[in-house]
Amino acid sequence: MLALAAARLGFDTAILTPEADSPAGRVAAHALVGAYDDPDALAALAGLSDVVTFEFENVPAGVVAHLQVLGAAVAPGPLALATAQDRVTEKNFFRAQGIATVDFVAVDKLADILAGLAQLGTPALLKTRREGYDGKGQAWVTTAAEAEAAFDRIGRAPAILEGRADFVRELSIIAARGREGQTVSYPLTENVHKNGVLHRSTAPAEANAATRAQAETIAQLTLSRLDYVGVAGIELFELADGCLLVNEFAPRVHNSGHWTLDACEVDQFEQHIRAVVGWPLGPTAPFAQAEMLNLLGADVEDWVRLAADPAARLWLYGKHEAVSGRKMGHVTRLRPFQRD
Ligand code: AMP
Repeated sequence: MLALAAARLGFDTAILTPEADSPAGRVAAHALVGAYDDPDALAALAGLSDVVTFEFENVPAGVVAHLQVLGAAVAPGPLALATAQDRVTEKNFFRAQGIATVDFVAVDKLADILAGLAQLGTPALLKTRREGYDGKGQAWVTTAAEAEAAFDRIGRAPAILEGRADFVRELSIIAARGREGQTVSYPLTENVHKNGVLHRSTAPAEANAATRAQAETIAQLTLSRLDYVGVAGIELFELADGCLLVNEFAPRVHNSGHWTLDACEVDQFEQHIRAVVGWPLGPTAPFAQAEMLNLLGADVEDWVRLAADPAARLWLYGKHEAVSGRKMGHVTRLRPFQRD
């Protein structure tokens, strides 16, 4: 999507990915196949590029620093990436800005989980500190036996134990910050997850002015404190009293922003390209109400019916294998705004 948006603005894109014949590589001017930390591949990428960006937050932070040494401008920068890569660092960052998160304890050994259960209450959610997304590497824990089994399943890797957020709904905000520090955000999105994976997004979410302002302040503050350049997604829990807690921050375009492809003049992908190349940012107001459904694994086999539905806008990612739970595409439906 980023390569397609870049092409429409007149840019050539070079993709570095470990995957041969990747969806992105097939629509880009150059496809380099190699590990993210392969020095030859990074030198080739830096040589081809004026600016380098990423759409996957588990690219090693050292790689970004290496690309900078090779003379490439990288956006977002290493601070944003390093902050988002470690759930404890991430939560400490938010707290230092006065932004609320769930209660948590850092876990290095089993005793930390047991102490955490006593402190946070049960059940609590054990997550790996690094490389987790979409509910991967996560388990709800109530008893000492469950704690031990869950810790073993993640190979006793450094982890975080989170108290259960008693949320009434999940929201997210997609925001962008340009090179000069200008920041814009799309309207709030309401998200429903199934098994830790995004299932449905609706936008703009119904929310009062105070909630919208709270989310915008969180986005502004986060992006400016990280000296962020590009689009980011911030996942939020809304509590019964209207307070928002940050769940996590994605230093990239975000699945809950895919609706902008169909409902906004400048979608999150074009917005990201505009930001990282130093262009003016574009408008973020939607022209319709949108509902986006993810197509996971075998859901994608429904594509003929979806393609025949004139109300459905179908996006298929060109991934070869519809592995169970894998994001294969999405479908968006628009509704005109009701006029009072
Ligand atoms: P994550 O990978 O952290 O985005 O978590 C995936 C999903 O699990 C979230 O969107 C929530 O639905 C749920 N979840 C994560 N953390 C918590 C928490 N501390 N309390 C309750 N639900 C959570």
